[in-house]
This record gives sequence, structure tokens and C-alpha cells, in this order.
Amino acid sequence: AAQTTPRTSVRRGPGRQFADHPAVVAALEKQAAIQRLIDATGLPHPLFLSPEGHNGAVIRSGGNALVNYSSYNYLELAGHPRVIRAANEAAERYGTSASATRIVTGEIPLYGVLERRLADIYRAGAALVTSSGFLTNAAVIGFLLGEGDVAVCDSLAHASLVAGTQWAGCRRVTFRHNDPESLAALLRSCRHQFDRALVIIEGHYSMDGDLGRIAEIAAVARAFDCAVLVDEAHAIGVLGATGLGSGEHFDLPGDLVDIWAGSLSKALGSIGGFIAGDADLVRAIKYAAPGMALYTAGPSPANVAAVLAGLDVLADEPDRLARLWSNARLFTDALRARGMDLADSESTPIVPVIVPGEIRAGYAAAALLQRGYNAGAILSPVVPAGTERLRFFLTSEHTERQLLDTVEELGEILDIVHHIPDLTIGAPE
Ligand code: PMP
Repeated sequence: AAQTTPRTSVRRGPGRQFADHPAVVAALEKQAAIQRLIDATGLPHPLFLSPEGHNGAVIRSGGNALVNYSSYNYLELAGHPRVIRAANEAAERYGTSASATRIVTGEIPLYGVLERRLADIYRAGAALVTSSGFLTNAAVIGFLLGEGDVAVCDSLAHASLVAGTQWAGCRRVTFRHNDPESLAALLRSCRHQFDRALVIIEGHYSMDGDLGRIAEIAAVARAFDCAVLVDEAHAIGVLGATGLGSGEHFDLPGDLVDIWAGSLSKALGSIGGFIAGDADLVRAIKYAAPGMALYTAGPSPANVAAVLAGLDVLADEPDRLARLWSNARLFTDALRARGMDLADSESTPIVPVIVPGEIRAGYAAAALLQRGYNAGAILSPVVPAGTERLRFFLTSEHTERQLLDTVEELGEILDIVHHIPDLTIGAPE
């Protein structure tokens, strides 16, 4: 197998200036090491799986049916007939693209309708939708902070939030994950050095499946004259009695958080991003922040219509949300009963099962896949070394049988995996 995976495969030629680039070399070596592991073990390749239909609780890939825990289609709205119909109708009416930046002739009426709904959901003055959740985080932070300012990030803040701090050119400091006391200590030591400060957290963390302690963290932020941004990517459509996110879940006042940011690509079954907050602040961002409504096209009409229809389904079929949460309870109870380590899981629909060691976690994911269950292995540096894990995203449509069978199969695999030495996938010798 080693001969089929050369050390680097960037051809010498016009792109040669990148052939020895450490980031390129490291990425290719890592990919080749994973391939060698797959070749040596004969296990199925777990990356870049391509489902044949919509990505939900069960997928078909390469001719095999898999119970799937790697889509964040929590309520399966992305395959819901009403949502698909709404997307089709919007494409018929407005075409497949806005075909312009919003400020220059690209303002589709559906944007305003969705923005009003998102503003109401977050008890905010206004909202703004965009074509990417990642870009929204990067662009908003990039716009609001600059030299002399500081981004005060939870240590598990998503890559898009960190990208925003790099875009901003501000200082970035981190506090211990979800820990208001760590935040207070940090601000006490450094707040005076900076002009503006933005505390950046998430409503529902995608690695540990724990909920952001928004009220406590916001109280500390206020005491130190900091603004607060909460990323709701995995919270909207999942948290709260009717799925309206962290604000509903914790019954937070509208002015506690300065900026709610989020993604339309997860529970809401579409693609795109949004912010909600003070009307003047949102208007300023709309008119002046590159990457929001300027220098980039607005989201596709079909995708916005899909979100609007998805929000209707969320309201009209409350049973979906109830099933999602009863699945989360059933699955986490069964995993714990089998002795598995779920880290900081609060028994939400994002379930981490800690399998320390890259080889062990990678092997466990591949072995599980071979048995017909697809869960992602999350390795360092995405999570700290030693806390590698399998991460299960549940949906409302997983059945009790599927969940309990998964626990059984995983238990058998982990009994074997714990005997594998804790090697690290390194460079080939
Ligand atoms: N924030 C968080 C916490 C995320 O997990 C993600 C995507 N995985 C994003 C933002 C980006 O969202 P999108 O897929 O809409 O770009």
C-alpha cells in the first residue's frame, strides 16, 4: 500500500512554490497516513462519504445502508416534503440565484421575511441573513473588532469564530471552556489593556454537546464592560421548548446578548448564516461589513424559502423536537449504562464518546462503519489530544432499535479498541 501513497503528490510545475509548504506537506502526509491505515486494515474509508439521498438518520453510500450519526439535520427538515416544495417554488419564482450582492439589486423579499422571524425568535431589534454561517462569524467579528481590541473566546469556540478574530487583526485570549470564573480572572488581568472587548461563546457546543452558560458568562462580561456574541449554530431548532434556541431555552432577556449569530445549515435544514441584535448595529453591519451584504451574493432564494418552511414545520410538528430529545436521553442513558465516557455531555442530541488516542478513535469509527453505523472520529487538534472521540449527531428520526443496536456494537468495538496501543498518526517513516 505504501507505494500507492507517495510522500507528497504536489507536482513540480507551475504550483511548485507550494510543494514544500509545511502546511501542504503536513496535510498530504496526514491524508496518506489515514489511507495507509485503511489499506492495511481493510476497513472502509470514513471520510468524504457521499450519501445517495438526503443526509439523515439512514443513508445509502456506496451501495450500503448506514445508520448515520454524522449529519446535523437534527429534525430531518432538509428532506421534509413541505420544505422541499417551498424551495422548489422559490427557485421557480426567483431563479436559482440572487445573482447580485444584496446592496446592488440582489435584495430578494424572502430575506426580509426570514430576518423578521429571526429577530422575533431572538427578541432582537433586527436580523440579517447571509449565504454562510462560517462567513457570518468571520465577517461580523472581522468588522466589529480591530487593532487595540480583544476577542475573549471560550477555549472551544468554533474555527469560524477564531477566523473572525484573525480577520479583525485584534488580540485573542481564551478562557476555560464554559467557565465564568475563568473568564472573570482573565478579564481582571487584561481588560484594561484594550479598547473594545467581545466575549465569544456558543449556545450548544458541537464537540462536547454541552450548553453555553450564557447568563452567567454575560453577567461577567457586563461587569467588565464587554459585549457578548453567542453562536447559535447547533442551538436554533434544537434547544428551547419549541426549538427556538438558547434564548427560549434559558428564557433570556433580549438585551442580554449583543449579537446572536448562527447557521441555517443545521437543524433549519438549509444553508446560510444569520445574525440578530440591536437594530442600529445590524443596519451598520448590513451597510458596511464586507462578506455580509456587501461583496458577496445573498443566500439562494430556495435556501431561504426552505428555512421559512422549516420554521413552519417546527411549529406545526412539535413531535419532531420531542423525538429528538427522547432519542438523546435514550442514547446517552444506554451509553452510560455500558460504561462509556461522555465527557461533559448534558444528554443533548450531540453525543461525544471519548476514545483517547488517534489510532483508537480512528479505528473505532472505521470498525463501526464496517458494521453499518457512521459516526465521525474527532481527532486533535480539533479537540485536545487525549480527548479524541466519536461524535454522534442524533436526529428525530433515529429509531430506538437503531440507537440501542449502536450502543451494543460500539461496546463490542471499544472492548477491543482499549487494547490497541495509543499511537499517533505521524509522518511515514
Ligand atoms: N458555528 C459552528 C459552531 C459550527 O459548528 C459551524 C459549522 N459546523 C458553523 C458555525 C458554520 O456554519 P455553516 O455550515 O453554515 O458555514
